[in-house]
Amino acid sequence: MVKAVVGANWGDEGKGKITDMLAQNADVVIRFQGGANAGHTIKNKYGKFALHTLPSGVFNENTVNIIGNGVALNIPILVNEIKSITSKGVPEPVILISERAQIIMPYHIKFDEYEEERLAGKSFGSTKSGIAPFYSDKFAKIGFQVSDLWDPEDEIKEKIESVCVQKNIILEHLYHKPLIDVEETYNTLMQYREMIAPYVCDVSSYLSDAIKANKTILLEGQLGTLKDCDHGIYPMVTSSNTLAAYGAVGAGIPPYEIKQIITVCKAYSSAVGAGEFVSEIKDEAVADELRRRGGDGGEYGATTGRPRRMGWFDCVASKYGCRLQGTTDVAFTVLDVLGYLDEIPVCVGYEINGEVTTQFPVTRLLKIAKPVYETLPGWKCDIMGIKNYEDLPENCRKYIEFIEKKIGYPITMISNGPSRDDIIYRKSVAI
Ligand code: GDP
Repeated sequence: MVKAVVGANWGDEGKGKITDMLAQNADVVIRFQGGANAGHTIKNKYGKFALHTLPSGVFNENTVNIIGNGVALNIPILVNEIKSITSKGVPEPVILISERAQIIMPYHIKFDEYEEERLAGKSFGSTKSGIAPFYSDKFAKIGFQVSDLWDPEDEIKEKIESVCVQKNIILEHLYHKPLIDVEETYNTLMQYREMIAPYVCDVSSYLSDAIKANKTILLEGQLGTLKDCDHGIYPMVTSSNTLAAYGAVGAGIPPYEIKQIITVCKAYSSAVGAGEFVSEIKDEAVADELRRRGGDGGEYGATTGRPRRMGWFDCVASKYGCRLQGTTDVAFTVLDVLGYLDEIPVCVGYEINGEVTTQFPVTRLLKIAKPVYETLPGWKCDIMGIKNYEDLPENCRKYIEFIEKKIGYPITMISNGPSRDDIIYRKSVAI
């Protein structure tokens, strides 16, 4: 059975924790899109880890961890990440890399930096991991697939030279930066080949056999619906598709095999980088308190350390986020953090040109949308450690059920702490 764990919002919803938790019973965990530009934070018996490229199943000895063809593969980061977890006592994980995955080239990272520099104040707030230049090249058909590393030397060099023709013109005349050196790039690729040789395989065939053998397979999404390149807050999106549906493409499996789509929603909102964020908290003191108390040790980027922008839960964005994912279950996370509030505003609609809507609109209208709030009473206590839904304070249950009704998808898991065991399963829910 294939399950997907994906985000409904701007990312950082706590997907890593949910995947790590579900991975305990999974045979395979797959990353199918994105690169090392975002990260999951996972806390388990080995310690606290920020994973950027590795699938969240790496802490389980029995789980096979796959980098699918849809991923932007940064090979040195991957190898360093493997070292960083094994050096903290995690057993050597089983990793497979798709021979069709494409490689982030050193010049992708440079182009990302140079373009942000050129755009200055109008930049996208890129993490400068090379993701946008990488996906541009992939679709312009000048990317390097992992399998290309085993081509004859003259063919690889010819391809690098051909890519350099256009890249070097831009480097020289637009960015005024050093040009790409063919020999140096070739040598780097050969180092990359050595680093990943033990892991490379035909992933889609492997998965086809795994599906036939009834294995439990988890697709692990990065970021969330609102950062999807097609359905998100374009252009302040990522350069790949963050939807569960893309899991079929980015891993190489039939779409109808994805039977369960667990969409992770955080009990409040946060976002990194620029872009529309209707329920953003405008009062910096209020936002800062939530930021400091948020997640496990504050809402700061797992990759960049950047402070996240904070907001109240947004039912409009989350309903849309869940719909586009094809949600079967909602995992509602980081609820414990809200225990300090007397009352909690929830964004239930957007006012656009004097009319209130609950449909998430295109970017042009998001820019003028004003949040419509309903305020719910807080529960004023610590809910960490609670294991049964019925044992949650009444106001806490009311908060969950209010949101569930507004978004229209069943909240079947409630996360009330950063650790694997901090989870409340909810059985029957009629919305
Ligand atoms: P991801 O990219 O979606 O995996 O999210 P992040 O890892 O960036 O952010 C989630 C943060 O919240 C991490 O620091 C997690 O350890 C933490 N976290 C996840 N679930 C919970 C929860 O239920 N309660 C608390 N307090 N922290 C949580």
